[in-house]
Amino acid sequence: MNYNDNTKGTKNSGNLNAAAKFIKDAFTIDFDKPLTIKNQFMILFVTLFISTFLFTIVYFVHNAGVPSGNAEPVSNKPGTTQVEKTESKPESRTESKPQESSKSESSYNGTLKNLTTVKKDHDEVYNGDLILVNKDYACHHDGEETVSLLDVKTDTYVVSDASVRVNESIVDTVNNMFDDFYNIYGESRVMIACGYRSSSLQQELFDAETADKGEEQAEEWVAPPGYSEHQTGLVMDLDLMVEDGIDGIDYDGQGIYSWINENCYKYGFILRYLEGKEKITGYEYEPWHFRYVGVPAACYITQNSITLEEYMDKIQKSGVNNPLVIKDNGKVWYTYYVKANENGETDVPVPVNYEYTISGDNCDGFIVTAEIS
Ligand SMILES: [Zn+2]
Repeated sequence: MNYNDNTKGTKNSGNLNAAAKFIKDAFTIDFDKPLTIKNQFMILFVTLFISTFLFTIVYFVHNAGVPSGNAEPVSNKPGTTQVEKTESKPESRTESKPQESSKSESSYNGTLKNLTTVKKDHDEVYNGDLILVNKDYACHHDGEETVSLLDVKTDTYVVSDASVRVNESIVDTVNNMFDDFYNIYGESRVMIACGYRSSSLQQELFDAETADKGEEQAEEWVAPPGYSEHQTGLVMDLDLMVEDGIDGIDYDGQGIYSWINENCYKYGFILRYLEGKEKITGYEYEPWHFRYVGVPAACYITQNSITLEEYMDKIQKSGVNNPLVIKDNGKVWYTYYVKANENGETDVPVPVNYEYTISGDNCDGFIVTAEIS
């Protein structure tokens, strides 16, 4: 048997004994005498140890339950900041804007992977819900797709007469919007005074206004024939029916009717001629003139308080590889612009895995809007 370890053991025992004596001496403090170096060293050591221990406990308790990684700041989560703002200023138009989606930006980075193409003739740039018609861009339609609203409307609103027509494609959304308004307020006096307006009727209106106020003044309020947005069939002017059901009174979007102005985006409508944007739209503020552009565009336009003109500028900078990401209430859309070939067809890239729409811009391109979630 090898006993060599005994020597080592004895040596180790000696070291341990010395350490134990040092600690015993250090802890043996006689406060009636000046502190020894050992006493001072031990007091400092114990203080540091206890401080470190307490700090570690507090740190872990504080961080318990806080998610790690890319968690969003609390203020960006749905139902926190936005709801508080809404509660504090319920009448404010700004606060009723569409809410941002709860998904983080990185969840929808605008990347569309599986693409195919569809062919579009150049003339199709003049079709679709997003065609821009203003004093620079004429309308290429003249009522081909319109129906008389009197025949197809619900009972929750009125029309001035059977001549009020809109495109058949927006009848359901018009009915739904006024049905919802009626279900909340029990009010059915809202009257659609004008929808589609033909080029020839526009000529008559423009001539009458010019004779009355002169051409310069007339152009501020009445579009020249061919350049009225009413010619698209995607527009309605609202009025309020007076008791006899014949004459309307001016609709101003105030009182209970502010619900319509604030919620119309959910149905795809925007207030087209905004206050303060007269230089961009070319028209004075019109609280009664609503234009259908589809839900995604209406959300973005309303969220950002911009005009259709500004939206089209934004879209033109958004290609298939860097689409504009639109979010509202958990819905997400990607939308992008594709320039049309001047001669012949255009191959428009579209997603394989998502529903999408294609609209012309009424000038030189197509706008694809894909529903991502
Ligand atoms: Zn109008």
